[in-house]
Amino acid sequence: MLSSGSLTLAAEALKQICWCLLYVIVCVCPLGPALLFVKTSRGKEEGRRFYACSACRDRKDCNFFQWEDEKVSETRLAAREEYNRNRQPFFTHRQNVERYRNFVLLPLSKRRFCQECQQLLLPAEWEKHSDHQFLCDISTAQLKSPSQLLYPLENKKTNAQYLFADRSCQFLLDLIIDLGFRRVLSVGTPRLHEIIQSKASQEEDFRVRSLLLDIDFRYSQFYAEDEFCHYNMFNHYFFGGEAARETCRKFLCQDNGERVIMVTDPPFGGLVEALASSFKKLMAMWKETEKEGHNNQEMPMFWIFPYFFESRILEFFPSFSMMDYQVDYDNHALYKHGKTGRRQSPVRIFTNLTPSMIVLPVEEGYRFCALCERYVSSGNQHCEICNSCTSKDGRRWKHCVLCKKCVKPSWFHCSNCNRCALPNHSCERTDAGCFVCGRAGHKRSACPSLSRAGTACQ
Ligand code: SAH
Ligand code: ZN
Ligand code: ZN
Ligand code: ZN
Ligand code: ZN
Repeated sequence: MLSSGSLTLAAEALKQICWCLLYVIVCVCPLGPALLFVKTSRGKEEGRRFYACSACRDRKDCNFFQWEDEKVSETRLAAREEYNRNRQPFFTHRQNVERYRNFVLLPLSKRRFCQECQQLLLPAEWEKHSDHQFLCDISTAQLKSPSQLLYPLENKKTNAQYLFADRSCQFLLDLIIDLGFRRVLSVGTPRLHEIIQSKASQEEDFRVRSLLLDIDFRYSQFYAEDEFCHYNMFNHYFFGGEAARETCRKFLCQDNGERVIMVTDPPFGGLVEALASSFKKLMAMWKETEKEGHNNQEMPMFWIFPYFFESRILEFFPSFSMMDYQVDYDNHALYKHGKTGRRQSPVRIFTNLTPSMIVLPVEEGYRFCALCERYVSSGNQHCEICNSCTSKDGRRWKHCVLCKKCVKPSWFHCSNCNRCALPNHSCERTDAGCFVCGRAGHKRSACPSLSRAGTACQ
């Protein structure tokens, strides 16, 4: 539960936004405890509070909804229980582990994976899936990279899965190894988890281990109960109950809690406040059993998220800083590496480790700024006025003396708004006049002087 301090903060925020997360409660949604939200109309102080599913912001995916002060009828409760039952996975994690054991004993010719059900099939089950598409001859290598076998979930609001490009995944692993970590708590990073587990099973002197926490239960088919926990990172809910929580706690606290790092790559539509609250609970779990020594330390963490969430993340984790490294994805057309001619990825690493320790690859153009004491993108110039390498997106930013800060290269100072903005923004105070001619009564787009002069002077 969030403190009353954040409740007041949330109430403040209500004046600006309509939907606001207050705190987590226990309810009967199939994805674990629901969150309490507040619905307000703009300007109204008091909103009506309701519970909704924490993982699915789209009502199509999970229809759980209830006004806080609402009385729920017996029939509706029964209907809800039925709905939840139908959404429970067909096999339990334990059953899936047992099935996997049998599956690997099969000769290659009998190893099938149903693409429709996203499930490994045992021969006795073939018939039930006879009109489904399936893959045959599932090799050990395929079993070791389930993220390639499973199709990425694509639902935009809830469960979008963007898988790391090999280059980025390898970079993360090398970094983790170079920093001396031995255990990785992979929260929503199945691909990082799988390269670690795969190496651990193949290379004798590879010492790193990983525990995957993810809401995608399909992974329970490939990992034992000490390798994967079905987990909802929006409400810190372990579907496997106390036993699963204990698995996680033990993993974090092994070897006196030393040499462990948490790496997370949440869906970007996720609520930062809900995520931060869960991550703090994971950090607290690590701190609990930590013995002597690092009293005031935080569990090391990489939170992978777009740069435009920087201020939000820093609000909850003031000790974090944002690294310039651009994280690339396989199945995200927009977020591929800049050098391949695509747009540059906006996704960065936020960490509570000392920035100078995060060495970024020189071959990819990153360099060390001795003044900032961190690695920065090649295009990121140190601004002498700001005394920092100010670019967030990798392009060279320019300093605006009026704003007293560096801004994107495509922006320029708007005297109406009294700040820098894109040339075609609509001014905040239209009464202050048009951005082009300065006269009142119209916006820049409708400026008569523009239409007369044509577009050339834009
Ligand atoms: N780049 C990562 C994948 C990130 S996609 C990689 O390649 O390993 C986001 C991940 O978070 C997915 O694996 C998705 O299943 C998981 N996820 C989405 N919502 C979640 C939730 N509420 N709780 C836990 N995991 C979640
Ligand atoms: Zn099937
Ligand atoms: Zn610098
Ligand atoms: Zn500057
Ligand atoms: Zn400016």
